[in-house]
Amino acid sequence: MTEFEYDLFVIGAGSGGVRAARIAAGYGAKVAVAEEYRVGGTCVIRGCVPKKLFVYASRFPDEFEESAGFGWSVAGTAFDWKTLVANKDREIARLEGIYRRNLEAANVEIIDTRAELRGPNTVHLANLGRDVTARYILIATGGHPNYDRTLPGIEHVISSNEAFHLEELPKRIVIAGGGYIAVEFAGIFNGLGVETTLLYRGEEILRGFDDDLRAGLHAEMVKRGIDVVCGDVFTTIEKTADGLIGHTASGRGLEADQIMFAIGRSPNIEGLGLAEAGVEQGWNGHVVVDAYGKTSLDSIYAVGDVTDRVQLTPVAIREGHAFAETVFNANPVSIDHEAIPTAVFSTPEIGTVGLTEAEARERCRAVDIYKTSFRPMKLTLTDRDEKMLIKLVVDADSGVVVGCHLMGPDSGELIQVLGILVKMGATKAQFDATVAVHPSAAEELVTMRTPTSRWAAEYAAE
Ligand SMILES: Cc1cc2nc3c(=O)[nH]c(=O)nc-3n(C[C@H](O)[C@H](O)[C@H](O)COP(=O)(O)OP(=O)(O)OC[C@H]3O[C@@H](n4cnc5c(N)ncnc54)[C@H](O)[C@@H]3O)c2cc1C
Repeated sequence: MTEFEYDLFVIGAGSGGVRAARIAAGYGAKVAVAEEYRVGGTCVIRGCVPKKLFVYASRFPDEFEESAGFGWSVAGTAFDWKTLVANKDREIARLEGIYRRNLEAANVEIIDTRAELRGPNTVHLANLGRDVTARYILIATGGHPNYDRTLPGIEHVISSNEAFHLEELPKRIVIAGGGYIAVEFAGIFNGLGVETTLLYRGEEILRGFDDDLRAGLHAEMVKRGIDVVCGDVFTTIEKTADGLIGHTASGRGLEADQIMFAIGRSPNIEGLGLAEAGVEQGWNGHVVVDAYGKTSLDSIYAVGDVTDRVQLTPVAIREGHAFAETVFNANPVSIDHEAIPTAVFSTPEIGTVGLTEAEARERCRAVDIYKTSFRPMKLTLTDRDEKMLIKLVVDADSGVVVGCHLMGPDSGELIQVLGILVKMGATKAQFDATVAVHPSAAEELVTMRTPTSRWAAEYAAE
């Protein structure tokens, strides 16, 4: 007989929490999960899934345009924002239903409430006004968009949360930020015909990505008519009769119907009772955990974005699964956060895994770069001047491919497979031993015979 009401109480039914709850219940644990908004979390409700649906919507004009070169005439196209939003909402509701049913089928109790810690084994259910006890508590509360709260006029801006539910498609939008969410939404709005500006405080968009991808996407976005402004920030947002004007440090006055902030995300920790319970927190309040997701308290674990490690759905899912294996199946599993393949669903899209060229130079004695940039075959019968980029970063001593960086059609799909190769430690020679698939863009991955550049520490030091 347990002295607690539950073996596991999960706070947050997002990617990490749902997986942990289901796996733990599968091992016989008595599990409840509290959700204050909608089951499925950020990814399903207002992240990856609706975003990808919007990305698809935004790319149809390209298809219409390209089809002309192949003899098609597509007349009278028109786009209806409200239809897209309504259909997206219906799909999200369907997915939420599946998430709920899967939890119920696994015998997980879903409690629709905000939950807060009241101690190492106690959780307060805000909507029900009562406390419950659990042997283990999992914090899987995710994160929320950052705003510059001190900026005059900040109350007029939106984040990705609101972008999914706008009543009207704006005619002009300015997106502040240079990370993957910012560039993805810039591509979405631009593709849907919105006059789009991206305003980023840093020197170049996509900090942390390979420099060729950063410069490459910047150039392609500009070709598509997006005004990409780097090295500038908003100083005031002014509401006018016509919409908004975003005044910047360098004196620009960017006029828009909507201004969207996508300047990063912070962990959902406010009012959670972490400090009171004695849970150690990091620089931005995130929950500090060990390799198994354990916090500074033995009974409290945390997974996903609230731990501020790698903010991606598959990572949160793996962390949730590993936690359940570790605690409820006596099988300690830790997560390797190295070489995680990831896509940016900008247009053109990006796929990346492993070390950037700059990182490889720090870790390897010598680095070979194999790089090619070309016009995708599908565009050869069109006027569109868009380049696909393929770049392999190779440790010259071992021949191991330590990084792959792609920009162009289907890069998000290709990088999943390349991720397996990089994770396996495949060498460039093994890439080359593979027969090409022709005609394809991906064949370049196995046909680049000689390095386009070589860097060696001994020469760099001179
Ligand atoms: C616009 C956007 C696009 C994205 N695109 C991608 C993508 O393409 N690919 C990708 O891998 N990742 C993407 N992400 C990131 C991804 O959504 C997150 O990394 C992932 O959802 C994290 O999962 P999680 O379980 O940590 O938290 P979440 O999924 O955020 O779930 C946390 C849940 O906890 C609930 N909650 C919070 N506090 C409480 C409380 N006190 N009580 C009860 N419930 C609470 C929240 O309502 C939420 O449902 C995107 C994110 C955004 C915002």
